[in-house]
Amino acid sequence: MRCRHCFAPLEHTFIDLGFAPPSNAYLTFKDLANPEKYFPLKVKVCTQCWLVQTEDFTKADELFNADYAYFSSTSIGWLTHAKDYVNKISSRFELGKGSLVIEVASNDGYLLKNFVAMGIPCLGIEPTESTALAAEKLGIPVLRKFFGKHLGQQLAASGKQADLIIGNNVYAHVPDINDFTHGLKAALKLGGTITLEFPHLMRLVEYSQFDTVYHEHFSYLSLYTVKIIFETVGLRVWDVEELPTHGGSLRVYGCHVEDLRGSTSAVGELLEKELQRGLQALSTYGSFQCKANCIKNDFLSFLIEQNRSGKTVGAYGAAAKGNTLLNFAGVKPDLLPFVCDAAASKQGKFMPGSHIPILDPSDLIKRRPDYLVIFPWNIAAEVKLQNKDLESLGTKFVTAVPRIAIS
Ligand SMILES: [Zn+2]
Repeated sequence: MRCRHCFAPLEHTFIDLGFAPPSNAYLTFKDLANPEKYFPLKVKVCTQCWLVQTEDFTKADELFNADYAYFSSTSIGWLTHAKDYVNKISSRFELGKGSLVIEVASNDGYLLKNFVAMGIPCLGIEPTESTALAAEKLGIPVLRKFFGKHLGQQLAASGKQADLIIGNNVYAHVPDINDFTHGLKAALKLGGTITLEFPHLMRLVEYSQFDTVYHEHFSYLSLYTVKIIFETVGLRVWDVEELPTHGGSLRVYGCHVEDLRGSTSAVGELLEKELQRGLQALSTYGSFQCKANCIKNDFLSFLIEQNRSGKTVGAYGAAAKGNTLLNFAGVKPDLLPFVCDAAASKQGKFMPGSHIPILDPSDLIKRRPDYLVIFPWNIAAEVKLQNKDLESLGTKFVTAVPRIAIS
């Protein structure tokens, strides 16, 4: 396989998580009687441009036909994050009635609705029908398409170049990052700004966040690599912010290479920090597997120990992080009998691979587990707050990454 950005041969493995079913392939009771498809889950690192990327495999198309859709508006913390961003960005770039804001992967309109409320024209791009429909109900125009070079050029040709293009948690999920970046360049007005948010590779390495690896997450990005990819298509990174979201994200600001804006000192400082943390040294990537193995073993030991001493354990959050950890560790319902999730679309189904049943969180009070493992460690505080009653009944909360923590 060659690097998806620079096409250099990929010779080094960052992490090998074995085989796993697609993380959003939730199963019905009937499905449990059928064979299940597993795909390799391996991440490589390119030593030319340092793009960390999932390995290609044949029949990748079969991964993405699951009809499950995630609605961004289900997370209160994320809604607040989006609102704060809109307030800040619209005054920083003096956006008004004559501006155009485009959001790629606009989901259910969780963010663009704030621009609608301010009377700033916007356009959402979202291929998933159910979420696109929800956004339209909020008064947001939505193009039901995948974004890339072709769509970027179409938007430009129809006079729809944007003053601001937003991409939140989409850049790491596109299979062809070069094509997507070409699209950003084409759809951006001269003098316009692009902001992209994605989990920061530096934090993934620092906090051993191997459970953020899943098939649909194609790229694990540093500022260094994003800067290179931007430059290849004629864009420039001129500012960057470190954010606490998703265990440590970056918000990168881009503009056309010919834009007269100077770059902020934050760009050079963060590039230096990444270099110091070894993001351009092969040894950094070589030690990651060992850290993941340790976390996996500790998690298994914890579950076995509770099982032997007759304690009950449940889990919260039937999403990608949980599936990656459970499948890597080979955990089955004997050690972890249930997972709760607030999404009604998942309740009554089973986790892919592990076949652990997914329940409504209201069942937690009835079950009163001795321990509740919170898989989405990035929102552990929010989950604990929502389950205060459980805590008063004696349940302890557990997170497994970067190490077993019980509170
Ligand atoms: Zn490369």
